[in-house]
Amino acid sequence: MIYHHIALNIPISDGLLTYAHPEALPAGTRVVVPFRNRPQAGIVWANHVSPEIAAAKILNIQTAFSGEPALPEDWRKLLEFTARYYHYPLGQAVFTALPQGLKEAKAVETPEPPLFYALNGTGRAQTPPPARFHKKAALWQALQHSDGLTLPALKRVNSQAAKLLEEWTAAGWLETKQAALPVLRPSEKILNARQQAASEQIQTAFGRFKPFLLYGITGSGKTEVYFDAAAKVLASGKQVLFLLPEINLTPQLLKRVEARFADVPTAVLHSRTAAGRRTQDYLSAMLGQAKLIIGTRLSVFTPMKNLGLIVVDEEHDGSFKQDNELRYQARDLAVWRAKQAACPVVLGSATPSLGSWHKAQSGAYQLLELTERAHAGAKLPKVEILNVGRLKLDNGFSPQALDLLKKNFEKGGMSLVYLNRRGFAPALFCGDCGHTFGCPNCSAKMVFHQRARQLRCHHCDHREPVPFKCPSCGNQDLTAVGHGTQRVEETLRNFLPQAKTARVDRDSTAHKNDWADLYRRIAENDIDILVGTQMLAKGHDFARLNLVIVLNADGSLYSADFRAPERLFAELMQVSGRAGRAETAGGVLIQTQLPEHPVFAAVKAQDFRKFAENELAERQMFNMPPFGFQTAIRADAPNVAAAMDFLNRIKAELAPRLAGGVSLFGPAPMLMVRLAERERAQIFLESASRKDLHHVVSLWIRALQQNKDAEIRWSVDVDPQEM
Ligand code: ADP
Ligand code: ZN
Repeated sequence: MIYHHIALNIPISDGLLTYAHPEALPAGTRVVVPFRNRPQAGIVWANHVSPEIAAAKILNIQTAFSGEPALPEDWRKLLEFTARYYHYPLGQAVFTALPQGLKEAKAVETPEPPLFYALNGTGRAQTPPPARFHKKAALWQALQHSDGLTLPALKRVNSQAAKLLEEWTAAGWLETKQAALPVLRPSEKILNARQQAASEQIQTAFGRFKPFLLYGITGSGKTEVYFDAAAKVLASGKQVLFLLPEINLTPQLLKRVEARFADVPTAVLHSRTAAGRRTQDYLSAMLGQAKLIIGTRLSVFTPMKNLGLIVVDEEHDGSFKQDNELRYQARDLAVWRAKQAACPVVLGSATPSLGSWHKAQSGAYQLLELTERAHAGAKLPKVEILNVGRLKLDNGFSPQALDLLKKNFEKGGMSLVYLNRRGFAPALFCGDCGHTFGCPNCSAKMVFHQRARQLRCHHCDHREPVPFKCPSCGNQDLTAVGHGTQRVEETLRNFLPQAKTARVDRDSTAHKNDWADLYRRIAENDIDILVGTQMLAKGHDFARLNLVIVLNADGSLYSADFRAPERLFAELMQVSGRAGRAETAGGVLIQTQLPEHPVFAAVKAQDFRKFAENELAERQMFNMPPFGFQTAIRADAPNVAAAMDFLNRIKAELAPRLAGGVSLFGPAPMLMVRLAERERAQIFLESASRKDLHHVVSLWIRALQQNKDAEIRWSVDVDPQEM
């Protein structure tokens, strides 16, 4: 018997168990093995291993799907890295990366290789059909100018293609083959000088690893740069992986892809792709049949035969990080993959993540910049910052905001009322001098706990009573932020009863057709005012939109989460970019009680650099990412005390064994302490050295694994995005 390590979808240690088979199965083969008396799908991870347990106890592999293509080595290496880096059982990481069909204990169909028709030598020597039979001539030309085309592509040229191909085959002019270089239509747009320069830089890196940060304001034509570079890669026969946030995978974008890459075999992978389809697309990418793979974070695990370029659009977007189970960051894995495949990777954004920006400043990434809007007439929005500190607000609206909405409605414009809902923990600040309350022990801002009359740090769990006056100016009237936007729609309806308002949030866009409906209504001028959260900030192009009102930006500036200002800035830039995508310059009004805050100055100037310099300087002072690295160890239980106890016990147990170089903060209850009937606490491990941090996290995991208390669940989040 030959012994094999099989990766299984089980939480036991690393998920690799040993099974026997009469002959060696190549690594990557899908198999079925018995596990706890049930057949389970698994992937051969290694063969000829020496068994760790008595040979008699080792069970046999039941079925090997040797007819299916094996999962390739580079893919297995990617999963090994992922499991190691994120401290997650390998077997479960592998199964996260597989599409449904390959997780099941039954065989799947391998996608048929496409058949390409091409003129052979004799064919090419023929006189083409006379031009007056123009459809027939067009088909001939299409064949003449290509390396080979599939029947569907030829039918798009001439609906009678099947019949003509039959004739020409009979005449001995055609050959068929299983692979051909894709046909790329010339772009309808001529790149401007900056776009051209950016694309050329990317092209000089073809065939080797090089990361780029493409920083370009909204509408500066980043997508056209990706397309241009992608077209060059595809023309050389290699594959392109294009990652983007789910919310940006809009019908508008897919139409642009379709227009540009109509004859390129493309797979679109997102959460709504049907399972069967996803499995087939996965396999066809793996076999090199699909050339352009577009998808959301999970597609970073798509095996590719011949990867030539990776693009990560809106690289700063939080949705690239998975926030449960395998907590991977797809953008970071994309860079790792590019290195593995020796190809360039382009991270693009109008508001890059500070991590990527820092790498571009230090030279680790090459910075490419697009500084102007591509569309000749498009203008930058005019941003106004309104100090509402002394104003009486009507459910969050200033009189100025209501007046602007009214005027815009009367002019027939469309407005957007934007609510900032993220990271909302109430905070205390001084309305006179703007003083905020930072933790005396660490870099976090403290949260206001009204009932306990306390300020608490959710990073290190420092607590103190609410002060009576502002420590910097003596003002006794301290204010809490974080309220007053519950009744936005009602307020609007009372104020402008004739205007048609629509709310856009996770609920109103949960169904497949919701966006389509929304677009239709907008196109038919059936919406005057959109009300929504960050969902609206991204990707969507509403030509008529010319006024944006931001009601409550401040919450983020006092947030205990040190990334909140970064997210706020990105959202404000994006949301203001929504105004005036077309010829009319849009207006943006931001209400705030802190008009002097650098974030607003940077938004007003539409200046990411300014923001980034400020924010990075602050992070550096406290060794926060990207200057240091973090891992969060979380525990949840029916009540937070049990979760805190559990973490405290391990902390005490490990204390004598922890070397220097890694700091520990907490445990502290999480900002959003309750989730799904459970309460959560966490400890932060922080270090300037990834290696030291990794080592300490491994020690923690070994201790966590000793947990026998069924009430307690724990998890590890490497490079956490939330506090
Ligand atoms: P971004 O991805 O940076 O937001 P897009 O690529 O979507 O920008 O471009 C914004 C708009 O400008 C789109 O309508 C696009 O068609 C147009 N555009 C981009 N590049 C050019 C160009 N070189 N010539 C003309 N129009 C362009
Ligand atoms: Zn603290």
